[in-house]
Formats: sequence, C-alpha cells, structure tokens
Amino acid sequence: MTAFWTEPDFDEHELVQLVHERKSGLTAIIAVHSSHLGPGAGGTRFWHYPNPKDGLSDALRLSRGMSYKNAMAGLPMGGGKAVILANDARTKTPEMLAAFGDAVEALGGRYVTAEDVGITEADMVAVAKQTAHVSGLPVEGEGNAGGDPGPFTAMGIYHGIKAAVRHKLGKDNVDGVHVAVQGTGSVGAGVARLLAKDGAKLTLADIHADRAAELARELGGEAVSADAIMSTSCDVFSPNALGAILDEEGIARLDTPIVAGGANNQLARAEHGKALAERGILYAPDYVINAGGIISVALEYLARRNGTPGDINDVRKRIAQIPERLEEIWLKSEETGVSSDVVADRMAQELIGRR
Ligand code: NAD
Repeated sequence: MTAFWTEPDFDEHELVQLVHERKSGLTAIIAVHSSHLGPGAGGTRFWHYPNPKDGLSDALRLSRGMSYKNAMAGLPMGGGKAVILANDARTKTPEMLAAFGDAVEALGGRYVTAEDVGITEADMVAVAKQTAHVSGLPVEGEGNAGGDPGPFTAMGIYHGIKAAVRHKLGKDNVDGVHVAVQGTGSVGAGVARLLAKDGAKLTLADIHADRAAELARELGGEAVSADAIMSTSCDVFSPNALGAILDEEGIARLDTPIVAGGANNQLARAEHGKALAERGILYAPDYVINAGGIISVALEYLARRNGTPGDINDVRKRIAQIPERLEEIWLKSEETGVSSDVVADRMAQELIGRR
C-alpha cells in the first residue's frame, strides 16, 4: 500500500491503522479523522474491494464524513470509521470479529465502532466481547437508547422534511404534501410511515419493486418503478437508497423544489450542490439530516460508559433539534449565496477546529 498521506482523500487524519491478523485472516483499516470533539466514532464496513486502495479511500473519506456529521449533530464525538477488507469469498468469521475487537480495544477508546454496511447487530455483539468501545448493541429494557439506528435516522429525516416544507413552501405541516421516496428499506420505509401518519401523499420506489408496492398498499400511496422516481413531480424528493444520485443527469430529471433524504453522499461531486441551488432546489445536506442514527448510537455509548442505560427521550430530544441546524444552514446559504452543502461543510470544519 502506498503512503496513506499521499492519498487524495487524506485530510490530516489523526490516525490511520492497518490491522492484519494472520490466524483469522482479518485485514482492516481503522481511521480517525478528528478527535477534536471526542473519540472518533463511526461504524465498521465489511466490504470486498477488488482494489484494496479503494478500502483505504473509503476509510479516509467516511471517517472525515463522520467528523462533520458528529460535529453538526452537537455530539461530543470525533469522526472515525473502519473497513474490514473482505476476501473474494466474503467470509466473515467469529475469529475475525474477535481480532477486530482486539484491535479496537488496543486503541484504548480513540475509536468507537458500530454497525455499517455488511455488519449486523450480532456482529457488534461479537466485537463487544473484546472491547467496550462499541455501540449499536441490542436494547435492554423499555425506554432505553440503543439498538438498530435505522428508525432514529428515519425520525430525523421526517423532522428535516417538515422543516424544509416550512422553509420552502411556508407550510406548517405535511398534510397533502407530495413526497417521493427513493428506497423503501429501513430508513425509507420509516420515513414514509411517519409522513403517512401526518397525511402526506406518497410515491414510493425500490429496486425490489414488491417492497415498494407492499408499503404503498399499507400506507395508501402509489408505487412507481425505480427508474421513474427521480422525475416524479412532487413537493419533496427524499433519497433513501444509494449515494451519488445527484449528478448532472439526476439533477436535470428532478421535478421538485426540495431534496431531503437519508442516503449518504447524495451529491456525486462537490459542484452538484451548486447545481441544485441554481435550479432553485432547497437541499438538506445529507450528513445533517441523517444524523438521527448516530445520535442514538453515541448517546447509547456515552451512557454505557457512565454505567447507565441511555434515555430514549434524550435521543428523541436531540433528533428534534436537527431542523434548527438545517434552518441555520439554509438562512446562511440565502444570506451568502453559497450553496447549503458548502455552508454545512464550513460550519462543520469550524466546529472541529479545521478553519
Ligand atoms: P437498506 O438496505 O435497509 O435500504 C435501502 C433500500 O434501497 C433497499 O430496499 C434497496 O432495495 C433500495 N435501493 C437500492 N438501490 C435503489 C435504487 N437505485 N432505486 C430505488 N431503491 C433502491 O438501507 P438503509 O439502512 O435504509 O439505508 C438507506 C440509506 O441511508 C443508505 O444510503 C445509508 O447509507 C443511509 N443511512 C442509513 C442510516 C441508518 O441508520 N440505517 C444512517 C445514515 C445514513
């Protein structure tokens, strides 16, 4: 592997560690971007990278993203991320997870892990046998924070959509507001359910068409093909599937005044934030609106460190503050003429002492 500090995604990361454990076959990269606000927190991704350099890029890019996300959520946590480089057979063994847990433990709390793509709650339980620096564990007891972050992410997006509707359309509720939801998995379905309760009109799509159709039947919305969702004429387009959907072609297809959804890294490239603004579309920066899950994970971790269960009401209270942050971003964007994604990046950089 080349020197990581010459990589284009290197951004003065405080720690980049290659972990290799021969017996289990574990190869992983742990990156901490900033610990300015607290320990570097962010999930572990289990992924097969045909070129291991892409795993390094992911660890560098995603850990910086977590610094920004945690800072903007007002959490006392820095940004970190780990990737486990899956072999060709994508084998994930208990021994590998144990070796990974040992590596996290050896960092003495500088990095706190949780689930990400390819890693389940059960995997985190296995990792937790080796280290205390882990979160996203099953919830024990009623009213306690923790467990699957998906529903909390959905809750934050729901609040964010309502804030965007208020800001752009001058409407205090989403009754009759038409929301097109791309992706009806854990986050997208959660968002759709919350909006349906408030009387929103829903159009849903998923590459697993049956998933979207079933949810549309349950909630009384309409299902369309995955190809059609981005050009659906609506009040809010809510991307909750893949990243990088907002490129020249994607933005040109949009027929909406608002983009507000949970997918990570929605802008294909930095300039696409400006392209959205030029079309007069209000954009909710992804890592600000989708912070509900990390708020739950972080509060669960911090409470456990104090020997107490996290309080789900604290989690809900913090998630309900996401709209304030979005409003601040949109107002600054309007005052300065700088697109909302850049305003958010600058605010995050200031919070982590990088500006
Ligand atoms: P998920 O796997 O449960 O759901 C994703 C859904 O999107 C699936 O149903 C999939 O079939 C569908 N999909 C994939 N490609 C599609 C396409 N081209 N068109 C339409 N549908 C498509 O994942 P999730 O946990 O709901 O996460 C959704 C997004 O939100 C991801 O980008 C994820 O990184 C991001 N996110 C999730 C969380 C969380 O707490 N789960 C937190 C922050 C961000």
